[in-house]
Amino acid sequence: MSVLRLAIPSPLRRQFDYLPPADLSAEDAAALQPGVRLRVPFGRREVTGYLICVQPHSDLPAGSLRRALEVLDSAPLIDPALLQLCLWAAAYYHHPVGEVLGAVFPRRLRAGGAQLPAGEPGWRLTTRGMGLPDGALARAPRQALALAMLQRECAVTAAEFDRQGVTAAVLRNLRDKGLIEAARIAATARAADSGADPELTLNPEQAAAVAAVLRQRPGFSAHLLEGVTGSGKTEVYLQLIADCLARGGQALVLIPEIGLTPQTLERFRRRLDAPVAALHSALGDAQRYRTWEAAREGRARVVIGTRSAVFTPLPRLGLIIVDEEHDSAYKQQDGFRYSARDVAVKRAHLEQCPVLLGSATPSLESMYNALTGRYHHHRLTRRAGTGKLPQIKALDVRRLPLRAGLCPALIEAVRDSLQVGHQVLLFLNRRGYAPTLRCHDCGWVAECEDCDARLTVHRQRRRLRCHHCGAARPLARRCPGCHSDALLASGLGTEQTEDFLRQHFRQWPVFRVDSDAMQGRAAMPALVARVNEGSPCILLGTQMLTKGHHFPGVNLVGVIDTDALLFSADFRGEERMAQLLTQVAGRAGRVGDCGTVLLQTHYPDHPALQAMLHHSYAAQARDMLARRQAVGMPPAGQLVMFRTDCPKAATGEVFLQRLHDAAAPQLPQGSALIGPLPSPMQRRAGLFRCQLLLTADSRRAARVAAALLVDIAAGLPLRHGLKWSIDVDPLDVF
Ligand code: ADP
Ligand code: ZN
Ligand code: ZN
Repeated sequence: MSVLRLAIPSPLRRQFDYLPPADLSAEDAAALQPGVRLRVPFGRREVTGYLICVQPHSDLPAGSLRRALEVLDSAPLIDPALLQLCLWAAAYYHHPVGEVLGAVFPRRLRAGGAQLPAGEPGWRLTTRGMGLPDGALARAPRQALALAMLQRECAVTAAEFDRQGVTAAVLRNLRDKGLIEAARIAATARAADSGADPELTLNPEQAAAVAAVLRQRPGFSAHLLEGVTGSGKTEVYLQLIADCLARGGQALVLIPEIGLTPQTLERFRRRLDAPVAALHSALGDAQRYRTWEAAREGRARVVIGTRSAVFTPLPRLGLIIVDEEHDSAYKQQDGFRYSARDVAVKRAHLEQCPVLLGSATPSLESMYNALTGRYHHHRLTRRAGTGKLPQIKALDVRRLPLRAGLCPALIEAVRDSLQVGHQVLLFLNRRGYAPTLRCHDCGWVAECEDCDARLTVHRQRRRLRCHHCGAARPLARRCPGCHSDALLASGLGTEQTEDFLRQHFRQWPVFRVDSDAMQGRAAMPALVARVNEGSPCILLGTQMLTKGHHFPGVNLVGVIDTDALLFSADFRGEERMAQLLTQVAGRAGRVGDCGTVLLQTHYPDHPALQAMLHHSYAAQARDMLARRQAVGMPPAGQLVMFRTDCPKAATGEVFLQRLHDAAAPQLPQGSALIGPLPSPMQRRAGLFRCQLLLTADSRRAARVAAALLVDIAAGLPLRHGLKWSIDVDPLDVF
């Protein structure tokens, strides 16, 4: 007898046994391969399950097993290494394996749908179209452009036409003339200009990094590429990818969500003579599915994607790159809480290929691995091309008059820069007009009804908004307590500084760059293009500005509120600050003269700031590591967080206390529990949050202890709408 052990999309952290479908012979059932999808009954529903293995028997009595209804795939759609990766991730993150697999398959396949015919919708020339003389359609330039593309490529996908600005109406016109016809086209045909850009000659540091990675082939090796902003990391990636392609492999490139701009993609497409596909959250289901299939069939040779792309099936995977590896966007913060960077390293290990993590400001995790010899460490210490590294100075603003947060010296410096035709970038990591609305007469403060947080004043949209749960209400004109109209917006946000800059620097354009001003995918690329035309302007923005964008004309960077970064309650606060400031600083002087970075502060002697001024990020990272080591925090020690969310404060605390008491006597050596404690921000979106922290001195102890806690938690009753979650290697403990 064969029993099918399946992963089922369900919150239960276990696998489920089923009998094979009735119409399947015993041999066929025994020969089913792990990874195939099956339609099975589950409770009163039918769901898609994934075969983990075929067993000779079940631990449950045979009479109690239900029968699977149908095998959906004749062969598994994911290969054994990817299935193994999913099983590892489910075990490591203590997440239900059915939900992990759900993250791998596109919606259509998750819902049990059949595979679609290969190819993308597109167009090709008819016989008549092929016979057209040169210079035809000269009076319809758009149609002529479309025709020229088809003459070059034989067939072009609708997506590629769209990318080149050829509209559906133009194509319909050509079709009506009998010149082109619709067709399904092998997806990800390479772009028209693919491989058009030549390879650059690497400088010695870049060449050394490339050679070092190539030397470790074949097989697994992990590399940290620590290169200052503008040092040519991307060039290193490109040459390694070219090598991987030349050997017939596929390459996976991960980038943080915000870094995947059309320019990035364009740069890869123009340099690599191979089909390059992108996977990101803005894709529709159909497009995501087609890209997934193209990768799975090996047609897409390079896949560039955000976090979840780490689970893309790539049968000939030969190289993984994680760009800006320190970026917190790699960590999924709800549901299946995984780190795409860490999964990428594991995947390279399972697939026996190199993985390269790149950053100007590596995470302490990766620094630790590099310093302890687990990763090869390569450095790019100077800027490629002509750019020089900027000079960083602190501006002591104590006792100085501030206008919208700017001291006279900074205002002066901005004017000087603009007057000689340079661009200026001002950094203020707080959007909105002001973070607090207060009544001058009675002291009332506008607070969110659902969070322990103040509401931010957004003046342009006349709203009060909570930046934690998204709640919004109209901007009050009178105090609800005393009806006074003396309401003060206090504190500083980007809208306020923008108002000042516009008044004070009338001759020059001011661009505000935050998530309010930059809505829609096209906004940021349009801004980057506009700014990079080069005329002097002021860019004022939040951390949105710091992520990977190139502004070669920027010569002065001002950090308006450095102090907001200096003081953070979280154990990663200092690391975040150092990364953010280094990344902001990296925007200055990318081409030509050496730029200047001015940090406004009330605490010019603060050690973290001094470190920033006098040491490299690397030296600072070593310092921070030593301090983490002293207190047993990650990456020196292991951290796992259990959190409850529930409508009543006491419920979560009681639950976690019971969990604590049941687990404490059985904890493995080297692990300990802290709490339960209310989260630093206790109430959020109407739910009370409480946490129990597990610390351990080894991964093994952490795994064993976490498994114990998960087991106990699964057996505790869930009362009053309580939900609990586990976060392995949490980014922060809020
Ligand atoms: P990073 O990814 O480290 O920020 P990039 O790869 O984007 O840096 O390179 C920064 C700039 O330097 C780009 O304009 C790039 O074309 C240029 N560059 C990189 N490597 C070289 C090289 N070997 N020779 C000349 N220019 C280079
Ligand atoms: Zn009042
Ligand atoms: Zn709120």
